[in-house]
Parts: sequence; structure tokens; C-alpha cells
Amino acid sequence: MTRRLVLATRNAHKVGELREILADVLADLDLDIVGLADFPDVPDVIEDGVTFAENALLKARAVAAATGSPALADDSGLAVDVLGGAPGIFSARWSGRHGDDRANLELLLAQLSDVRDEHRGAGFVCAAAIALPDGRTHVEEGHFRGTLTREPRGSNGFGYDPILLVDGDTRTSAELSPAEKNAVSHRGTAFRALSDALRELLVP
Ligand code: IMP
Repeated sequence: MTRRLVLATRNAHKVGELREILADVLADLDLDIVGLADFPDVPDVIEDGVTFAENALLKARAVAAATGSPALADDSGLAVDVLGGAPGIFSARWSGRHGDDRANLELLLAQLSDVRDEHRGAGFVCAAAIALPDGRTHVEEGHFRGTLTREPRGSNGFGYDPILLVDGDTRTSAELSPAEKNAVSHRGTAFRALSDALRELLVP
């Protein structure tokens, strides 16, 4: 029987994206990923860790404990070199309003307006974690590097995608197709790196 792996998100789009990224391992181990939409009673987790890895583990552990199933979680953000890694874990609320992508991006561009092109290096970071109800865990990180533009460009993706000019490409992350982004993104890289741990921890 197909076993389920619960992803710590209420966002159906993220469930679909992860099913694609982990397609091979899901097929090999006869697993399916479901989101928290199927578990309305699971409480929201307070993300009070100070690293991406800590926050991803907090979410995965809480969901595994609440559902009794193995759980996956991720935590991600944008780390700007000249800001010493900020906004980092504060990426979603950099402007003060949680999840206001446009305000976050505009504040960051304004803060960096005097920073020359050669010092505008930045990267998305993602920590991907698995937690089992018995307490075992594993976490991996992925990185997606580029340079910050001065104006947003492109309409795919979300968050800071329109201002990250992808290393080795002439496009911003918001100008890549979803499949192109998955192939190189911090999230794709982190979850693909987690595949070996999934095979070990979830062996039937
Ligand atoms: P979350 O913790 O994965 O929900 O992401 C936190 C925040 O980091 C988001 O609200 C975005 O501002 C930023 N972020 C994370 N991943 C990406 C990405 O792939 N593109 C653009 N922004 C991202």
C-alpha cells in the first residue's frame, strides 16, 4: 500500500512541486506526498530557530509528532553577501509585513541602491528536513547563486525571484520556467540531496 509522507505546508502548489522533484524516490519506495490541507488539526509551528536548518527541523518534527507519519519540511530565504547573509531567515517579513513579496523586494533594492554591481552577489538558501515519528531526523541544504539586479524582471516564481540574475544565465529566476528553476534551485538541490536519507530512513 502506498505510504504517505506529510509535507509541512498548506500550499498545494508546493506539494505538486515536491512530487516532481522527488518523483524517482517516491516511485521506488511507493510513497506519496500530502500537504497539511488533509490535517486541519495540526497547529502552526512557531519558527523560533535562528538558522534555516533549525526551522526546517522544527516544522518536520512537529508535523511528524502530530500526524504519526514521516514528515518533510523546508525553510528558505535570500542571503545577500554585502548584508552578511540578511534577509536570511527574515526574508518573508523583511519589510515588516509577513509575505508582502513586493514590499520586501522594494525595500531590499532601496537598501542596496549604492552598492556597485560587482558587490551585489546573493543566493537563495533552502534547508530540507525529514523527521520520523520515532525521532530520527536528517537535514540538507541547497544553494542557488546569482547577482541582484536593480529592477525586477520576469513574472514566474514569487518572492525575490524577479531580482536574482542567475549565475551562468542572462535571465532572472523569475524568467526561468518552473522546470528550469527546479533543476537548479536551492529547493530542488536540497530535496534531491535529501533523497539518499529518504531511501535509508523509509526503506519498506
Ligand atoms: P519559505 O520559508 O520557503 O516560505 O520562504 C521564505 C521567504 O524566502 C519567501 O517568502 C521569499 O521571500 C523567500 N524565498 C524563498 N525561496 C524563494 C524562491 O525560490 N524565490 C524567491 N524568493 C524565495
